[in-house]
Amino acid sequence: MKALDPERFTDYIENTARTVVEMYELIEPGEMVVVGLSGGKDSILTLNLLSKFREDFNFELKAVSIDEGISGYRADGIKAARKFASDMDVELIEKSFKEEFDFTLDDIVNQYKSGCIPCGVFRRYLLNKTAFEMGADKLATGHNLDDEIQSFLMSFARADFRRFTKFGPKLDRIHPKLVPRIKPLWKIPERDVGIWAVMNGVDVHFAECPYSHSSLRAKMKNYLNNLESRRQGTKLSILQSFDKSFEFPKKRIKMGECTRCGEPSSLSICKACEMLEQIKTYFDLQK
Ligand code: SF4
Repeated sequence: MKALDPERFTDYIENTARTVVEMYELIEPGEMVVVGLSGGKDSILTLNLLSKFREDFNFELKAVSIDEGISGYRADGIKAARKFASDMDVELIEKSFKEEFDFTLDDIVNQYKSGCIPCGVFRRYLLNKTAFEMGADKLATGHNLDDEIQSFLMSFARADFRRFTKFGPKLDRIHPKLVPRIKPLWKIPERDVGIWAVMNGVDVHFAECPYSHSSLRAKMKNYLNNLESRRQGTKLSILQSFDKSFEFPKKRIKMGECTRCGEPSSLSICKACEMLEQIKTYFDLQK
């Protein structure tokens, strides 16, 4: 097999992300972009690329890290996030479940079939709230091509068409307090993100979350990798099919504010407040 040329490979990664930023108009001049920085390879690459693009596209760049409280895992990610933010001269704001909700993910994980359920709800909540408080115009995440089609097919399998509005490289601002998300790695496969990190000697946090194995996403990931190994290009075809249809359901979303916390929500009580109530009841019963 022919060895990959590191310079050409890095150019391919940069050009693919740059095309997504330009083609889908992810960033307007003068905006402030906040990157959700976990310290994993995807978010580190996102920060790296946006830091290279900031002069050309004329925007301000900051980052936020969320410590969910996963012992033996998250601390190394936060360490990597601090190092990369500092190397790239980007201000990093750190938040944690413990500080915000008074529990860690480890404290509540047994109440759920998969740790990813509460993790996703509370992390999204805190990321958006923090990015909004920082004055962000856009919240950049490290979602790559694999993440996107896994999410798409998971929603498809559950007939959860409302979630289709959350796909695509750029989400609309559907509420003044909901910071629109952008995904510069939208067309970059996860495997290529890993190759980029290894090739460039980037010391990212490669460890796997101890809760990831129980998720539907992990099963979908295996399934798609299997398909891709049998028929190369399957993942990209799925993304392209989705790209042609994701405009359709966007108009149906009606966003209000949670009557408890005031954060944006399509329901009268947001998912985070609903889960906080259940967790509080669970803790009260344990006393
Ligand atoms: Fe959270 Fe699941 Fe990701 Fe672990 S794998 S960090 S529990 S979403």
